[in-house]
Amino acid sequence: MNILLLGSGGREHALAWKIAGSPLVDRLYCAPGNAGIANEAELVHLDIADPDTVTGFCRAHGIDLVVVGPEGPLVAGIVDALETAGVACFGPSKAAAQLEGSKGFTKDLCRAHAIPTAAYERFAAAAPAKAYIRRQGAPIVVKADGLAAGKGVIVATTLAEAEAAVDLMFAGGLGAAGTEVVIEEFLEGEEVSLFALCDGETAIALASAADHKRVLEGERGPNTGGMGAYSPVSLMTPAREGHAMETIVLPTLRALKAMGTPYKGVLYAGLMMTADGPKLIEYNVRFGDPECQVLMLRLMSDLVPALVAARDGVLKSFDLRFYPQVALAVVMAAKGYPGDSPKGSVIDGLAEAAAIDGVEIFHAGTKREGDRILANGGRVLNICAVAPSVEAARDRAYAAVDKIRWPEGFCRRDIGARAIKQTAPRD
Ligand code: AMP
Repeated sequence: MNILLLGSGGREHALAWKIAGSPLVDRLYCAPGNAGIANEAELVHLDIADPDTVTGFCRAHGIDLVVVGPEGPLVAGIVDALETAGVACFGPSKAAAQLEGSKGFTKDLCRAHAIPTAAYERFAAAAPAKAYIRRQGAPIVVKADGLAAGKGVIVATTLAEAEAAVDLMFAGGLGAAGTEVVIEEFLEGEEVSLFALCDGETAIALASAADHKRVLEGERGPNTGGMGAYSPVSLMTPAREGHAMETIVLPTLRALKAMGTPYKGVLYAGLMMTADGPKLIEYNVRFGDPECQVLMLRLMSDLVPALVAARDGVLKSFDLRFYPQVALAVVMAAKGYPGDSPKGSVIDGLAEAAAIDGVEIFHAGTKREGDRILANGGRVLNICAVAPSVEAARDRAYAAVDKIRWPEGFCRRDIGARAIKQTAPRD
């Protein structure tokens, strides 16, 4: 098979690494890719926001499957465009991608199908939104309806903060994403990400993972795209995973199928494990980044036939195996992230770091210039390790981090600390 992967982050490097290892693959291309992906795939310069360009490339190069990494092209409808042109594509259609593209759409779907989630209301104007906030009290959560690159959720601890968030959104602070808002109940509990491979009807739970969203140690500072992750999550027992699949993921698939827009692709359910059981915080319509990195490191089975089966609607008799080991990812970002961070600094020591037993390095924002690897984004590297325990995976990952010579970069030193504190429940 010839495969084209779309995207350029750590998620796509992990996918490229796994796909390139499949005996089914003849040629793997990636657009636009990064310096690490270049070791696994042929990089191509394509505007991945333009479906016609992507379709033209697929026709010219005999592409058998397109795998879409990020949410932007999915929500914009790239799968519809490619499939209409006769190119097989792994990922949800534009209509099904509304699960991530519109928070209001997902909340209404949950309400209509009794899928457990935070109580909420939708608003298209500031005054009624603020009145609702005052009636409900704080803490309370304010969300922009549309895609907002991780900036669209404000967990407000005071009424003033919540009202300021409403003002910001309706003043256009988040662009078109904030023309409508969802205000919802604050949920308490531990957060877990559950990934499911879906073929429109059937879903296979992949594995649980957890990420560290805040930029500073101890879960402080602004939200980021993710500063680290680990898998599995011990509090997500098989029984709890089964319960979340039955009460959240499968009813969602049934609902979308009934609407005539079946969901195919990876469904990423952000869950809050509350005292009343798992509740849906949000859906994403793609692999998480950096969760994908730890999932791919743990996946024993070939990913490619699973992607094809999901796209073809034949997952029913499929089985995917994972290694029992723990995988952990530490994100190294350029100083300044999640704000502006300068590009172009030189990164050394990557080969020594990667030589440590059990360590794998996935690039995110990097580019090659001659023999040098340069930082080319906010999140730059994922230093990952696999080991029998969280402690051992963490020690390996940080031993590798310490080999990297990049004064302009930083990372959190406490990735996995939450997992080490948790003990597995007995249910
Ligand atoms: P999201 O972009 O929806 O993942 O939200 C970002 C983060 O905000 C989540 O990972 C949670 O930590 C937090 N969050 C979102 N919704 C809620 C909620 N209803 N209750 C508590 N925390 C929430």
